[in-house]
Amino acid sequence: MQLTFLGTGTSTGVPTIGCHCTTCSSTDPRDQRLRTSALLTDGSHRLLIDCGPDLRQQLLTNHIDALDACIITHYHYDHVGGIDDLRKFSYPNGFDIYANADTIDVLRSNVPYCFAELPYPGAPVLHPHVLEPFQACDIAGFNVVPLPINHYLMDILGFKIGNLAYITDAKVIPPETIEAIRGIDTLVVNALRPKEHISHMNLTDALNVINVVKPRQAWLVHICHDMGLYAERNSSLPDGVNLAYDNLTIEIP
Ligand SMILES: [Zn+2]
Ligand SMILES: [Zn+2]
Ligand SMILES: [Zn+2]
Repeated sequence: MQLTFLGTGTSTGVPTIGCHCTTCSSTDPRDQRLRTSALLTDGSHRLLIDCGPDLRQQLLTNHIDALDACIITHYHYDHVGGIDDLRKFSYPNGFDIYANADTIDVLRSNVPYCFAELPYPGAPVLHPHVLEPFQACDIAGFNVVPLPINHYLMDILGFKIGNLAYITDAKVIPPETIEAIRGIDTLVVNALRPKEHISHMNLTDALNVINVVKPRQAWLVHICHDMGLYAERNSSLPDGVNLAYDNLTIEIP
């Protein structure tokens, strides 16, 4: 199983519009972060995780011309803003998206034409499926266990898929989720910046989670420019912990 990080940036992306800090001015491609999203592949199976506003560019850059389904963590625009670009994969039979009930409700109201009973010609045809915490289901050939995550006031989802736990936009990871992923091989988890933030874990929070879960490898995502240069920050992280960067593919046993 392989995971490709299509985007590893926070909601503004990096560089941030109008900012000329060292990170935003860096020419290192590892400092240029599109909005957080990933592709999981296993043989011919391809599962997209989130469909943010950079989806079109991410699919083109990574030459992704087929997808089987999309699982969505929550309805914030940086995770669903590219939903219209799933249209290519929705012909002729529709395209399956999976999320919690709140996210499905918001999407139905924000992009109703994607869910129309009589689709407008050329519009995406999306088939929504509601996920419940800890109710495992087979999605595109992957066994997906939805994990409850707290994103400040929002209940959102992380995912356990085989030896991978994928968590973004967590402020707090509830104890039952920690128990479910303890000792997992690969943990992807959000770390916004060194400083505290009201709705996202900072670097210290993420490292504390990693210390408890003790994965073989941990990858940090949903990063903002305040994290600093990849080359400097990454070398300061503990063994087995790395900043993810866009278009990186990792192997999950
Ligand atoms: Zn986000
Ligand atoms: Zn900046
Ligand atoms: Zn969010």
